[in-house]
Amino acid sequence: MTDKFTAERILWIHPWAPNLFSFRISRHTGFRFVPGQFARLGVAKPDRDNPKNPAGERIVWRAYSVASADYDEHLEFYSIVVPGGEFTSELARLKVGDTVYCEKTSYGFLTTDRFEGGRDLWLLSTGTGLAPFLSMLWDPRVWDSYENLLVVHSVRWPNELAYADTIAAFRRHEHFAAMGHKLHYLPVVTRAAWPGALQGRIPALIESGALERAAGIKLDHERSRIMICGNPDMVDDTRKRLTALGFAMSRRGRPGHLAVENYW
Ligand code: NAP
Repeated sequence: MTDKFTAERILWIHPWAPNLFSFRISRHTGFRFVPGQFARLGVAKPDRDNPKNPAGERIVWRAYSVASADYDEHLEFYSIVVPGGEFTSELARLKVGDTVYCEKTSYGFLTTDRFEGGRDLWLLSTGTGLAPFLSMLWDPRVWDSYENLLVVHSVRWPNELAYADTIAAFRRHEHFAAMGHKLHYLPVVTRAAWPGALQGRIPALIESGALERAAGIKLDHERSRIMICGNPDMVDDTRKRLTALGFAMSRRGRPGHLAVENYW
């Protein structure tokens, strides 16, 4: 442990698809976050190429949104394995019991306190960008604050619809079931037809009205508060589509309708 980060243990690893997995690490009691924020994680990597440190290691760092509840004793993360990626390839090699470093500070502004008012919280994600929204779903204050929670998860292929069962299980969960009618899960599979899923990119589904029809809820300036997280191109295209429809970005001290985060 240093002033800046702590050494934590991997507690659990869950593969979803060949290139997708979730993992949990122990949580330092001092690590606090608001659902939607991210942690900075480090993995040790051999540093053979460094002539000054041929036998040593260096730590590579990457930001990861927390997927678990702010009251859980562990921290959960959802990751893709980027082929040849300095961080994720190293991470994918680790086993339960191995060490991951975690900065003591949490980061990011993709939090519901960016908004004022609103009745419907739209959570638009691609791929691993779903993670911060899972943390929000574990937060009873989020359920209390909105009439509808709409989770839109766009993936290329059906086997990438990670956490579909977790999301469905909120409706049976002892603490959330009474509010279960508020939750709308809208999976999107872009490269195959899949029962129960929309097909098409999120900005196109907004433009055609298909997303609103599938939800049975209109995008509306008074009611809608919208978060976007994932592929930077999707974030950009979706933000542009929504601002063209008159939705405004939330700025510091000036709450609007939209809050966004690029996932890489
Ligand atoms: P992805 O490219 O994020 O695709 C997931 C979904 O986003 C797909 O449904 C895709 O639709 C959609 N999408 C892509 N561009 C869009 C746009 N402009 N507007 C609307 N929707 C869009 O796939 P991924 O598997 O999560 O990640 C793919 C690559 O991203 C990885 O190989 C990796 O290089 C990188 N990545 C890196 C990190 C990192 O930590 N460095 C993390 C995540 C991902 P289509 O099928 O139509 O493309």
